[in-house]
Amino acid sequence: MLDSHAHLDFAVFDHDRDALLAQMRQHGISGCILPGVSPAQWPMLRAIANQYHLPFALGIHPWYLPESLDYAITALEQALEQAQHADGAKLVAIGECGLDKLRAKRMAEQGEPQHWTYQLTLFERQLQLAERYQLPLIIHAVQCHGIMLEQLAKYDLPRGGVIHGFSGSVAIAQQYWHSGWRLGIGGLLLNPQAKKLRAVVEQLPLAALLVETDAPDMTPVTSDEPRNTPLTILAVVAEIARLRKLSVVQVTEQLSKNAVQLFDY
Ligand SMILES: [Zn+2]
Repeated sequence: MLDSHAHLDFAVFDHDRDALLAQMRQHGISGCILPGVSPAQWPMLRAIANQYHLPFALGIHPWYLPESLDYAITALEQALEQAQHADGAKLVAIGECGLDKLRAKRMAEQGEPQHWTYQLTLFERQLQLAERYQLPLIIHAVQCHGIMLEQLAKYDLPRGGVIHGFSGSVAIAQQYWHSGWRLGIGGLLLNPQAKKLRAVVEQLPLAALLVETDAPDMTPVTSDEPRNTPLTILAVVAEIARLRKLSVVQVTEQLSKNAVQLFDY
């Protein structure tokens, strides 16, 4: 089993990364996919990915808008080119990239009204790269599902990708799934208030789902530690099994198959 989205390269894991990965393996979690967030982060990401043999993605997150878009996209192109031909850990996707309307609203309130347009341009440039390199995508989408579906439909992306940290409705989940996109289910599912997400897990085919934690963020309400870790996927998988009335083994098998199919890691 794999955590399909965890930022284990972040400094908050520096003091106990070895121990955490050993603990994950003891629990049958072979590793995690490390998503890229900004050009400044990629060197550390690559180093950690190589050291621990973890699959990784390269991309620019909408919270980390670069000062020069052209410069950042050229850097991404070079990093993708280089990673595809390098030995060591495997590049499995472009991301995380996407759109965040909530962030754009906050930035507009702080005097940066152009944030949204800038996000859109940066995202489109990354979609173009996914099309060119035929790589799947790890997508961050907050309060923007309509426009996200429109954007994704504009490009030839047969490998699809995952809408990570999904929290939308069944209707939106179905639209993504029918357009070739999977949904990343994380620790929010452990929150009894998350009724929409429970309905998604109950009603969508299991083939549409991936498990993820977004560690160190998205700590579930059930945890008393501030930092989230990939160990949370054990509880997420157990909850999916309970909601689907299947065994944990059956759910684990299908979810692992989904991740391998999508990312070919
Ligand atoms: Zn993330």
